[in-house]
Amino acid sequence: MMASPPLYKKLILFLFLWSFCYLTLTTNLTLASKIYNKRMKHKRDLRSCLNSISGKKVFPTDSEYNSDIINENTRVTYKPTVIIHVDKEEDVATSIKCAKTLRIGITARSGGHSYEDYCTVIGAGQRLGPIYSALSEKGFLIPAGTCPSVGITGHSLGGGFGFSSRKFGLASDNIISIQMVNADGQLITADNNQNSDLFFALRGAGSGSYGIVTSLTFKLSPVPDKVTSITIDYDISNIQTVFNAVHKYGTKLQKEVTFSLEFSQSAFQLTGLYLGNSQQAQKVMQDIVSATNANPRFNEETFFDSVVRWAYTNPDQVRNPQLQPYKFKAKSFYVNSPGLSQDGIQYIADFVKTLPCSTSAIFDLYDGSAINLVDSGATAFVHRNSLYAIQVLTTLSDQSDVCLNKLKSFGIEFQKKYTSQFSYQNYIDRDLVDWQHKYYGSNFEKLVKIKRKYDPNNLFSFPQSIPVN
Ligand SMILES: Cc1cc2nc3c(=O)[nH]c(=O)nc-3n(C[C@H](O)[C@H](O)[C@H](O)COP(=O)(O)OP(=O)(O)OC[C@H]3O[C@@H](n4cnc5c(N)ncnc54)[C@H](O)[C@@H]3O)c2cc1C
Repeated sequence: MMASPPLYKKLILFLFLWSFCYLTLTTNLTLASKIYNKRMKHKRDLRSCLNSISGKKVFPTDSEYNSDIINENTRVTYKPTVIIHVDKEEDVATSIKCAKTLRIGITARSGGHSYEDYCTVIGAGQRLGPIYSALSEKGFLIPAGTCPSVGITGHSLGGGFGFSSRKFGLASDNIISIQMVNADGQLITADNNQNSDLFFALRGAGSGSYGIVTSLTFKLSPVPDKVTSITIDYDISNIQTVFNAVHKYGTKLQKEVTFSLEFSQSAFQLTGLYLGNSQQAQKVMQDIVSATNANPRFNEETFFDSVVRWAYTNPDQVRNPQLQPYKFKAKSFYVNSPGLSQDGIQYIADFVKTLPCSTSAIFDLYDGSAINLVDSGATAFVHRNSLYAIQVLTTLSDQSDVCLNKLKSFGIEFQKKYTSQFSYQNYIDRDLVDWQHKYYGSNFEKLVKIKRKYDPNNLFSFPQSIPVN
C-alpha cells in the first residue's frame, strides 16, 4: 500500500489557564483587579507565544468555540483558554513549549490518518469510523471498538476492545510504534527499540499522562471475505441460563468469534461477530444456542457492513462520524473465570431494572482470546486473565442526582462482593477509589517511574493521570 502523509488536522489541543480560575471567587477588589490584569497579560503572552502555529486557534470569543468544546458525554464540559486544531507536529511542539513557559495546563483531543505496507500510520486525531472504512477498502482491519466517533488515540492508549478482539487483541496490542511530543517539545519515537519503557507505558496508560501522541503505527490484519454478525434476543427471565451457558462455553469458543451480552430495562441481547461465513458461525455458536434454546440471527456480510451494523447507523455516518452528545456516567468491572455467581447476576440485574434512569449492563467476552495471551506485565494494560469486562452505563436525565448516587453505591458494593478488584481505564471514572490499582494493578509503580523520567515536572496531568510519585 502507498504511504500518504499522516493527517493531523483533527488532533486538537486544549490549553488551560488553570491558575486563574479562582478570580471570580475573590471578594477583595484590589486583589481581583491585580489578578485580572495579570490574567490579561497572561492571555496576551499566550497569544503571542502561539503566533507561529499554523493550525486554527479558537478562543472563547470565537463563534466556533462552543461547538469545539462539545464532548460526547455532555456531563463533562471543559472551558479551555484556547483550542488548537493542529496542522503539523511543530504545532504540537510549540503548544507544549508555550504551556511549559507560561505554566499552564495542556491536554489532547483526537483527528487524521494514512497507511502503508502491512502496517498503517494513523494521525492522532483520527476516529474509528473513517479508519475502518479506509482500511477495509484495502482489505485490512485493526481491532478496535464499535463506535465510529471514538478517537483512535485515546481509545488505543487505554486498551480498545471491539468485535475482532478475541482474534486480534486490543487496539493497544496492535501498536508497533508511537510518535509523541514530550514535555520538552521534542518529537520522540516509542517502540520496542527506542524508548521501550515509554512504549510499555503508552500502551494502556498513555492517555494524557506522558506527552501528546501525534501518530501511531498499527499492525494490520486481513479482513476475511465474509464475516457473520450474530444477534440473539433473550427474555430477561432466562438470565441465569444464558450466563450459565456463557460461563461454560465462552472460554472455549474459537477466537474468530467475539461477542457481548447486554441487558437494559427493556431488552436482553447477545451481539457479536464471527470472522468467517455463516455456516461456520452457526457451528461455533451451536453449544450456546442449544443450551439457551435460542433463535439466533446470522447475517453474513462484508466486514464494513458489520461495522455499520454494530454502529447502529449508516455508511455515511461511519465514514464521517458526528458526535451525538448525551449525558452519561459509567462504572466498569472485570470478572475472572468461572464468572459471576448467581447472586452476582441477580444483584446487577436488579440494579439495572430498578434504577430510575435508562441503564444497561454490557459484558464483553475476553477469555480464550488474543487479549489474554499477552502477559499482564508486557504492556501497561494489566487486565489479562478476565472472563469478561462489564460496563454499567446510565443515561442521566431528570433524576440525575438520584441515579448518580445509586450508581456510585452499586459500583462499590458490586465490586467488593462479586468482581475482581480491577476496572477498565478507558471507561474512566473520577469517583473510583484506589483507581491506581484498579486501572493499572502491579504495573502502577513502574508507570510512576517512567512518568518521572519523561515528564518530571508533571506537565501532562489531570486528576487520574499517572503521578510523578
Ligand atoms: C459512545 C462511546 C462508545 C465507546 N465504545 C467503546 C468500545 O467499543 N470499546 C472500548 O474499548 N472503548 C469504548 N469507548 C471508550 C473509549 O475507548 C474511551 O472513552 C477513549 O478514551 C476515547 O478516546 P477519544 O480519543 O475519543 O477521547 P478523548 O476525550 O479525546 O481522549 C481520551 C483521553 O485520551 C487522551 N488523549 C487524546 N488524544 C491524545 C493524544 N494525542 N496524546 C495523548 N493523550 C491523548 C485525552 O487527554 C484523554 O485523557 C467508548 C466511549 C464512548 C463515549
